[in-house]
Amino acid sequence: MFDNLSDKLDKAFHILKGHGKITEVNVAETLKEVRRALLDADVNFKIAKDFTTKVKEKAIGQNVLTTLQPGQLLVKLVKDELTELMGGDVAGVNLSGNPTVILMSGLQGSGKTTFSGKLANYLQTKKGKKPLLVACDIYRPAAIQQLYVVGDSIAVEVYSEPENKNPVEIAQNAIKHAKANGFNVVIVDTAGRLAVDEAMMTEISNVHKAIQPHETLFVVDSMTGQDAVNTAKAFNDRLNFDGVILTKLDGDTRGGAAISIKSVVNKPIKFVGTGEKMEAIDVFYPDRMAERILGMGDVVSLVERAQEQFDEEEARKIQKKIAKNEFGFDDFLSQIQQVKKMGNMKDLVGMIPGASKAMKDVEIEDDAFKHIEAIIHSMTPKERSKPALIDVKRKARIAKGSGTKIEQVNQLMKQFDQMSKMMKMMQGPGGKNMMKMMGN
Ligand code: GDP
Repeated sequence: MFDNLSDKLDKAFHILKGHGKITEVNVAETLKEVRRALLDADVNFKIAKDFTTKVKEKAIGQNVLTTLQPGQLLVKLVKDELTELMGGDVAGVNLSGNPTVILMSGLQGSGKTTFSGKLANYLQTKKGKKPLLVACDIYRPAAIQQLYVVGDSIAVEVYSEPENKNPVEIAQNAIKHAKANGFNVVIVDTAGRLAVDEAMMTEISNVHKAIQPHETLFVVDSMTGQDAVNTAKAFNDRLNFDGVILTKLDGDTRGGAAISIKSVVNKPIKFVGTGEKMEAIDVFYPDRMAERILGMGDVVSLVERAQEQFDEEEARKIQKKIAKNEFGFDDFLSQIQQVKKMGNMKDLVGMIPGASKAMKDVEIEDDAFKHIEAIIHSMTPKERSKPALIDVKRKARIAKGSGTKIEQVNQLMKQFDQMSKMMKMMQGPGGKNMMKMMGN
């Protein structure tokens, strides 16, 4: 996430290394580089300029903080300013109203439908809500179909009227349907176009006026940089929306949209999308994002994700199996699945302070466990529960079945062996505390 920007900012701060006191000259030099880094990340020129002016004002004459290294002080000032620029505090979703009506807006391809599903899933699993998804795209039958696929995958009902060509009516009927059937959140996915046009704006304004949503969200693809900011402005002028959703932050985003959008439309970024899966949704925390941009990682989010995925019962089951020497490849697989639920590897590495920089040149596969899973899936149930059965002949069969090399199977067997031994050791005297430390 924002690798390029992080890299350039890091280089900018290098200028200050070796200087004992912040002087006007070296601050100016560093800030010029900071501004260049922001512009390269597609941040609007005026915003980048104001940003560095503010940081400069604060930096000059901060002799008070002589205990800090000048570099650190400036990084802190930049971090605070970035946080402020991206919204300051975290902004929640207004869930008042029964049902709460949420209207999604944005261009086609921005990730509206995907995000509608993610939000429904988030509200259902994390907030105990009963959401209804509404398909209001009257132009593309495929869009309605797509919402059904999304709804199916998260077990959320979808409301549509394929024959009706009036989106206002569909939305109103959906709210009636929700009231009559106990749904407490209604998420209305609307039609988007490839670019801003009058017909689309009129249509969504009409829906907006008719259903008076509690929350109107604008979805935008973060990869589109300054265009994202301009589109946001056009939608905000018509809808006066409540918040922004930035999607595709997992891609090769330069960061301009995330940094500029709040100050242009004066509306907070509420969530971000970090992948195509339904779980790839994060509440947007401006301070954590600023830390990530500055290569400081985001340990708080990492720990939160680990806690969310940690299943106490499963851990107890595994502990018993280890004690009885019954830990097998099926358990190994379920452990991998738990880690995977925390997010993709690249994203997780980005949350570890300094790791992004250290691993800059290492190719991290999105699906780092693909081969391991394929190998385990090629084993018979018996082999999975009794790995000792796997001899050379079986290894060759497993490699063939999983499309891997025998060396890869060997490697996995070795890793598994080491892990089992280590776990066994932890169970022994003195090991209990270690297990506790690891959350098991
Ligand atoms: P809509 O036309 O606005 O409804 O956009 P869609 O929801 O159909 O999304 C367009 C494409 O972007 C689809 O291929 C999605 O899978 C993909 N997409 C949506 N959100 C994300 C995201 O956060 N990350 C990534 N990598 N892809 C996304």
